[in-house]
Amino acid sequence: MAAELYSHENRPQDRAADASVNSARPGVSCPQCETTMPANAAFCPGCGWSIAPIPSADRAIAAAAYLTWVAGAVILFLPAFHKQRFVRFHAWQSVFLWGVFSVLTIAALLLSNLAAAMVFLVLGILASLAMLFLWIVLTVKAWQGERFELPLFGSLAERLG
Ligand SMILES: [Zn+2]
Repeated sequence: MAAELYSHENRPQDRAADASVNSARPGVSCPQCETTMPANAAFCPGCGWSIAPIPSADRAIAAAAYLTWVAGAVILFLPAFHKQRFVRFHAWQSVFLWGVFSVLTIAALLLSNLAAAMVFLVLGILASLAMLFLWIVLTVKAWQGERFELPLFGSLAERLG
């Protein structure tokens, strides 16, 4: 593929065509995705491929940026990293990822609390309706002179006499 590209670029008519396309900003093509980019670019705008190797200290800081959004926010805040696009990229990505994760977690907690509240509300309504029903039945039975025993409460009432 590389050799093919090379011979292609060497043909005069194609070189003229390329020159007209790239006349606004002369560039190089990305070895990863072949997107044309400025010759002095640190990253390919198409695929994010790093042109210059990233120092290990920068890579370590970029990796540390993922220790929650706090680390990412601290790195974004520190003036030392204001020009470090690689570090800042990962710091921003960490802040966004952790931000979305936090929002989803809080939403899930709120929803589960809401669900629990709904269950209690429904159980409360059912218990109230059951109590109303029993109250009416027992009042009517007593009024009619019937001995109507409830399963548990009846035997207790019997014993206490
Ligand atoms: Zn690329």
